[in-house]
Amino acid sequence: MPIQSFLPPHRILMGPGPSDVSPQVLQALSRPIVGHLDPLFIGMMDEVKQLLKYAFQTENDFTIAVSAPGSAGMEACFVNLIEPGDKVIVCRNGVFGDRMRENVIRAGAEAIMVDDEWGSPVTPSKVKEAFEAHPDVKILAFVHAETSTGALSDAQALSRIAIDNNALTIVDAVTSLGGVPLKVDEWQLDAVYSGSQKCLSCVPGLSPVTFSSKAIEKIQSRKTPIQSWFLDQSLVLGYWSGEGKRSYHHTAPVNSLYALHESLLMLKQEGLANAWERHAEMHQKLKQGLEKLGFEFVVEEQSRLPQLNAVYIPEGVDDAKVRTTLLEEYNLEIGAGLGALAGKAWRIGLMGYAARNENVSLCLRALEETLQQ
Ligand SMILES: *Cc1c(COP(=O)(O)O)cnc(C)c1O
Repeated sequence: MPIQSFLPPHRILMGPGPSDVSPQVLQALSRPIVGHLDPLFIGMMDEVKQLLKYAFQTENDFTIAVSAPGSAGMEACFVNLIEPGDKVIVCRNGVFGDRMRENVIRAGAEAIMVDDEWGSPVTPSKVKEAFEAHPDVKILAFVHAETSTGALSDAQALSRIAIDNNALTIVDAVTSLGGVPLKVDEWQLDAVYSGSQKCLSCVPGLSPVTFSSKAIEKIQSRKTPIQSWFLDQSLVLGYWSGEGKRSYHHTAPVNSLYALHESLLMLKQEGLANAWERHAEMHQKLKQGLEKLGFEFVVEEQSRLPQLNAVYIPEGVDDAKVRTTLLEEYNLEIGAGLGALAGKAWRIGLMGYAARNENVSLCLRALEETLQQ
């Protein structure tokens, strides 16, 4: 058989991301390409910045989308803010905290770990103690919404501790942006990164980031050059702003940015608070149904993410077999457990466009029928 065009089925994505993308966003993706320095495209990039500021709830001038997935946004924050020899407190309560540690070490800095159980939020008092033991720490890094477990940490409380200790914050908001309250300015967060394919429900491959003026000052006062040319945000800035005359840095993923523009516009039209409310409501519906089926949640109720529901796999149930049946017979994808929860839990995502009544009903029906077999 000669290779033919790839025609994927219509899957319903209820895992840890990518999430369902609305037809409106897919349509935007297929619009005619224009040059990346075309004045019309530059105008659209300015609108993407404005819309991102709204999503992040910030007035930060430096608010853009890195042309690469969330992991690149993560790396951009670490390599720009950290210099060799710096001390960084890294909170680890799941997979992504561990990746932060990797970033710190590879940037030549020292990572001071604050560990919490998988499924628990970060404990602020432990962070306070870490600052007391290491008063020369310059940065606090933590994951707001830990997608590997479904736990939400108190970003505002953690930020306050960092401020009290004259440290900056690096915050992973990949799964939180658009799904739960995230207030960059009010909470005074410094370097925040996200991803396009979680609660923004855009295609994967873009990473919204925002830097506070304190973060920019830290970058400008560096004694060593940023080790990554591509992620050096002072160079990227000339591409995303530069008041009319932009300098070429790299070729923006033009059509993906159309899609991000459309998904952010949809978020703006719905209203951020309404989107948070919808995620919470859909989570309640899913939770009630899952509990009726006998499922237990990994995370305590008060720190549960509405958009990522981690539940223990019932005893005697074949993890892979159930997920294969859901995929093949219902076109439904749910997430497997990750890291310490591999084989033990499923992660059911209700992110962005996937946080809808139809999806909740389908997921509950599919799980009930599949488990009965
Ligand atoms: C998905 C995710 C990432 C990585 O994003 P990619 O787009 O897969 O690179 C980082 N942090 C968290 C919390 C995530 O959920």
